[in-house]
Amino acid sequence: MATWTEQNFGSFKMRFRPYSLTMRHTFTVASYSRNSTPVILLELEYDEIIGYGEASMPPYLGESQESVSRFLSRIDLSAFNSPFQTEEILKYIDSLSPKDTAAKAAVDIALHDIIGKIINQPLYAIWGLNPRKIPSTSFTIGIDKENKIIQKVKEAKDFKILKVKLGLETDRMMVETIRKVTDTPLCADINQGWKDKHEALDMIFWLKEQDVQFIEQPMPKENIDEMAWLTEKSPLPTIADEACQRINDIADLKGVYSGINIKLMKCTGMREAKKMVDVAKALGMKVMLGCMTETSCAISAAAQLAPLADWVDLDGSLLISNDIYEGMKIVNGKCKLSDRPGIGISKI
Ligand code: MG
Repeated sequence: MATWTEQNFGSFKMRFRPYSLTMRHTFTVASYSRNSTPVILLELEYDEIIGYGEASMPPYLGESQESVSRFLSRIDLSAFNSPFQTEEILKYIDSLSPKDTAAKAAVDIALHDIIGKIINQPLYAIWGLNPRKIPSTSFTIGIDKENKIIQKVKEAKDFKILKVKLGLETDRMMVETIRKVTDTPLCADINQGWKDKHEALDMIFWLKEQDVQFIEQPMPKENIDEMAWLTEKSPLPTIADEACQRINDIADLKGVYSGINIKLMKCTGMREAKKMVDVAKALGMKVMLGCMTETSCAISAAAQLAPLADWVDLDGSLLISNDIYEGMKIVNGKCKLSDRPGIGISKI
């Protein structure tokens, strides 16, 4: 096991180490395939209270264990003496570089965990959110061969909505295969895989007949005019994922997509994610709450915001076989938040 890198800032101590998440199944989307995901586990300590954080780095984000470690090593919290200086601390962290959003999220999550533990309440309660308002979470079926798809759909029988990854020549086969074994509603994530707007629209009409509820990132994020055309004509809501990373991206996406997919690793963490929900709703846009492949640490942090979402896709910790925390559970296809304080996790 990799050893911790430790830093002592006076009021705060911080330590972090690399960890590799093992996927239960090879995970394939329109642009790549993988069997593991690199993460960095982080612990922030204040007054003997430990807050847990995590950075997850799927390859397309452009971060790695090395870049996250490098970023975290640059942090100096000696100017701060209370975790309640949240805005100032996180503004300082964000100012250290233009990107490194997953590395920033690791600190943000740990800081929120400490705050909840001091107040002795879960974050969702501190924010006044009702956990009974959480919509069903989707379970992701990656691109695969017919027999594997059937096996995965059977494993996901408790879920009330399934997310199917599309964007290759096999799209109709994927959906038809799923429909042979279940009539559970679906949502479709194309991961920018469709290149022609007319073909995309035909496909969306066909998917609607297959009880697909919404379409995530159908075309490349640069195709703004085509995307606005598609959203206007689409019988299903369209959601920006790759096209929407941070809060400043949202305003330009109004009229281009029906909604946005917010993920902690894209947007620097819980503080900005919560602000993004407010901005999207003020613009009349839908909110989806998503994740990367993550342990129960980052998943349970994101789940604190789930009562605010129209759609929830927080299955990342179920896709791995070596989680080291327990926290949010999925019961009857819904996120069940733990009533422990902070982000509500403990080490297994
Ligand atoms: Mg997506």
